[in-house]
Amino acid sequence: MSRKIKALIAKLAAGDGPSCEELTLLISQTDSQIWQEIRLLADSVRAKHVGSDVHLRGLIEFSNHCRANCLYCGLRRENRALVRYRLEPQEIVETALLADQLGYGTVVLQSGEDPFYTKELLAEIIAEIKGRTELAITLSVGERTFDEYALWREKGADRYLLRHETADPALYASLHPKRTLEERVKCLKALRSLGYEVGAGFMVGLPGQTPETLARDLLLLVELDVDMIGIGPFVPNPHTPLAREEGGSFEQTVNMVALTRLLMPTANIPATTAMGSLRPDGREITLKAGANVLMPNVTPKRFRPLYEIYPGKICTDEEAGQCRLCIEGRIKSCGRTVGTGQGASLKYQQRSALHGNHAAGQ
Ligand code: SAH
Repeated sequence: MSRKIKALIAKLAAGDGPSCEELTLLISQTDSQIWQEIRLLADSVRAKHVGSDVHLRGLIEFSNHCRANCLYCGLRRENRALVRYRLEPQEIVETALLADQLGYGTVVLQSGEDPFYTKELLAEIIAEIKGRTELAITLSVGERTFDEYALWREKGADRYLLRHETADPALYASLHPKRTLEERVKCLKALRSLGYEVGAGFMVGLPGQTPETLARDLLLLVELDVDMIGIGPFVPNPHTPLAREEGGSFEQTVNMVALTRLLMPTANIPATTAMGSLRPDGREITLKAGANVLMPNVTPKRFRPLYEIYPGKICTDEEAGQCRLCIEGRIKSCGRTVGTGQGASLKYQQRSALHGNHAAGQ
């Protein structure tokens, strides 16, 4: 390991922000010893700042209809091979109640960008879940207007996940027809200003991505000061224009999670489902490299195979109760503990304490 790289790792360990050039240089390194060291460091930073708890989020994939046409995603509008489904509002509420009974402190309501769920309809669903449980509600329904985000927040939505996908504006534009990175970032800032706990993130191994792109991805997370960060490998989907592209590397994705933990010690970082889809022990490896959240699926079994963002997605053949037990076993196998309660990020809690709950957006 060169002295320059050693010094860079020491800088990260000390919590000093690296420059884009420094991060790019580090990400370009292929010596596995370097990455072993960074992963260990990330694991200790995770333990020191957010402890041994792994927080669970019950994921409800409530619709696979999508008006967007993202080149990588199986839910894209032009994928005619996909059978589309929607959960009835009442079924979404019932699934959230099931998640509550299974002991999850949070549900993530995720879907394609589906205008069927209007501002008012989603607001009613949120209000009903909040009225009947103590669950934190995380929304992940894509780009909507400020007014929509505001009403949902008012009705009790707590968090919002909207990955920025890639921080390179040109790559972003080429992967998202008629959309811009600027617009995506504007949504993230709007969510933040409304006091949501906000999540962004990106895919690793997108065609055309370089070490510098990844460095920019990490620096954008720091700049936006997000509370939650979802990182996963790009997995080519045969029913998309990127069918023949190479997928992202598992190892590089773990490395990006580790770097993220070093840059953002108090954020919540999931070991994403896609990591478990690439390798049976993929989520455990990620938990040992800086991650502290898992997102078990609670979607009714009959719909799971249809939420096919990418092929080979795990847990499509299981019921929610089975996932609960499986996930708990995985956490314990890593010597970690199952988090209880809503599990807000330490980052968000500190921000709320500083500015008062309502002004957490500042
Ligand atoms: N419509 C919502 C949810 C999108 S699906 C939104 O716009 O936020 C959730 C995530 O799946 C996306 O943010 C994207 O990062 C990821 N994803 C989509 N296609 C993928 C693929 N082929 N491989 C890996 N991840 C993918």
